[in-house]
Amino acid sequence: MPALHPEPALMLLPSSTWLPQPPLERVDLDWLTHAGIEVAILRLDRIDPLISGNKWFKLIEHLKTAGRVGAEGIISLGGAHSNHLHALAAAGQRFGFATVGLLRGHPQETPTVRDLQAFGMQLHWLGYGGYRARHEAGFWQPWQTQYPTLHPVPEGGGGLPGARGCMQLRAQVGAQLAGLGWSDYDGWWLACGTGTTLAGLVLAEAGDHPVYGALAVPDDHGVAQQVEMIVGQAGVSNPVYELFEASRGGFAKVDPLLLEFIEKTGQASGIPLEPLYTGKALLALKQQVEAGRFAQGTRLIFIHTGGLQGWRGLSSKN
Ligand SMILES: *Cc1c(COP(=O)(O)O)cnc(C)c1O
Repeated sequence: MPALHPEPALMLLPSSTWLPQPPLERVDLDWLTHAGIEVAILRLDRIDPLISGNKWFKLIEHLKTAGRVGAEGIISLGGAHSNHLHALAAAGQRFGFATVGLLRGHPQETPTVRDLQAFGMQLHWLGYGGYRARHEAGFWQPWQTQYPTLHPVPEGGGGLPGARGCMQLRAQVGAQLAGLGWSDYDGWWLACGTGTTLAGLVLAEAGDHPVYGALAVPDDHGVAQQVEMIVGQAGVSNPVYELFEASRGGFAKVDPLLLEFIEKTGQASGIPLEPLYTGKALLALKQQVEAGRFAQGTRLIFIHTGGLQGWRGLSSKN
């Protein structure tokens, strides 16, 4: 009698062999010391030499789904400096699955694009109008015809699956608290673009600790709505979070005060920041600390969400 050999689900993600472990480090900066506030930084920029930042965590559940449905790889979209496509392409190369990137705009060379190509990602440039159509019904259809074995992932790896992948950050911090001599913490502080990463923490905390989001995008970008949607889909009954304006005039808007703050912080603490997300987030925290938003003795976890690779190509323009 022939034995049954069910085809094992092709796993894109070798979870048992590679679990990213972001280090948690104490931050020593004089404006924190003055206020009597302690901050530890969760270094998502240091999980791997190539796969960096919150975008990796946002991909985890998408990769698991792709494995479950038997996909051979991932197709997704982003811009010419995209941290999301960079993490995806690096993961594809590391773990041996195919990646296709649909890019905004017209073909251009950036450090990110060169990396994507070196990682073996196949690129298609959609122009600006073509990229704007990404939310329209039927957008994915021709791409799924062309790449029937690839699993589509939305821009930035967002939505509830993206948030679920970020939930594990809570446990990763919990496991490292004792090493800092901390028995607990009072909240999280992190940059928000879509709010997906923040939503993941809100789900993981379920009200135990508040999550503070520094908005790297203007108020009208719908971050609160995105968080509400994810929290609603997940059915969390006690979401505790607060959003702070941090965009300084718009997404990717950079000003001298911000650049000086980033440089000084790097010199004082050795922590590399970029101005689009992590620099704006830490500067917004400084402003809130100086405004007395947090009581003396407060302990916060600041998430370094990565993004250093994208800034390579932008810094020359500033
Ligand atoms: C994408 C990104 C963010 C924003 O993450 P969301 O989950 O969209 O809020 C923050 N920091 C960096 C460096 C990013 O690349």
